[in-house]
Parts: sequence; C-alpha cells; structure tokens
Amino acid sequence: MHSRTKDAELIEQTIEFHGHWCPGLAIGIRAAKWALEELGKSPDEEIVAVVETDMCGVDAIQCLVGCTFGKGNLIHRDYGKNAFTFYRRRDGKAARLVTRENFKGEAGRKLSHLNRKRREEGLTEAEEKQVEEARQEVSRWILDLPLAELFHFKEPADPPPQKARIMASHMCEVCGEQAMETRIRRFDEKFLCIPCFEAVEKR
Ligand SMILES: [Zn+2]
Ligand SMILES: [Zn+2]
Repeated sequence: MHSRTKDAELIEQTIEFHGHWCPGLAIGIRAAKWALEELGKSPDEEIVAVVETDMCGVDAIQCLVGCTFGKGNLIHRDYGKNAFTFYRRRDGKAARLVTRENFKGEAGRKLSHLNRKRREEGLTEAEEKQVEEARQEVSRWILDLPLAELFHFKEPADPPPQKARIMASHMCEVCGEQAMETRIRRFDEKFLCIPCFEAVEKR
C-alpha cells in the first residue's frame, strides 16, 4: 500500500479515469488513499463519501474508494469546498478531511498570481508555460506533503446519510414520465415532476 509502485499504479489508474493530471486530482487521491487505508474499499454501500465539491478530486474518490453516484454511497453537497467526509457503516468510524490554508505551497502562490493576471490582463505565451509548470509542481507538492499538512481532520457534523432505498414511482400528470415519489411535487391538486413543477411555477 505504501510502496512507490503501488502509489504510481493508483495514480495512473485515477488519471485514466479522470482524463488528465491536475492539482484537484492530487487532492482527491490523497483523501482517497486515507479512506482506503483507514476504512477500506467499498464494493457495496459500506463506505459512504460526502463530498462538498463537484470538481476533479471527486473522480479519485469514485475511482479508488468505490463510492459512486450510481450506488448511492457518494453524496454531493454543493458548498464549493475541498472537503471530503468518509463514513464506515459497520462501526461508525468517520472523518471529515478539509484542505488547510496555503496547502499548495510556493508553487501555489505563483499559480494563483498567474491566474489573477490571466483574468485581469491576460498572459504571454511564456507565462502560459509557467502556469503549466506551476500546476505540475503544485500537483507533485500535494502528493508529497505530509497528510496532516494537507488536511484538517475533523469530526463530521452529521451522522452518515441513510442507505439508498428502492422508492415507488409516480407518473407526472403533465409530461407523463415516471419519477421517484420523493421527487414528485403537488401543484393545483396534481402530481408533477420537478421540471414540470418548475415550469408551471415560473408562469
Ligand atoms: Zn482535473
Ligand atoms: Zn413532468
């Protein structure tokens, strides 16, 4: 698990799944590795991940830990934070990993300076190359950083989310399509799916 080759394999596997190599993926890989080592892999719903971002890092959680949207053991809260909570159902072991301030180091400062310049006045070709180099440097930095310097380890505020259940479906009286009963809305004595409900609400 700790060997270089095993690590290299995990990284390769994740890049293949995600499509490219980037700092966000590096963060996700570190969080996923913590979960694998401390809680184990999740072939079923045993491990649940609650992610507070929908960016690159989540792909590492899906690929390596086996928490996926389809299985219902990956839950997204749209808070825009680099925060990942993992729960193991059988014994309640859990932790919320949140990236620390300035975890990207010197290369990270260079990168955010260049990104600001790009937004405000644009970058020269040479600077675009520097961005690419800084991204590589930051990604490497994140992989090598001691885990305690990358993440705060916090107590999750909430208990683990409920297991995914099989739900009954209802037919929407506007479009005629079936939707899960928990997603059906009442409007004017009718049962409506969410898009149809939002459409009549806007009128
Ligand atoms: Zn990415
Ligand atoms: Zn509908």
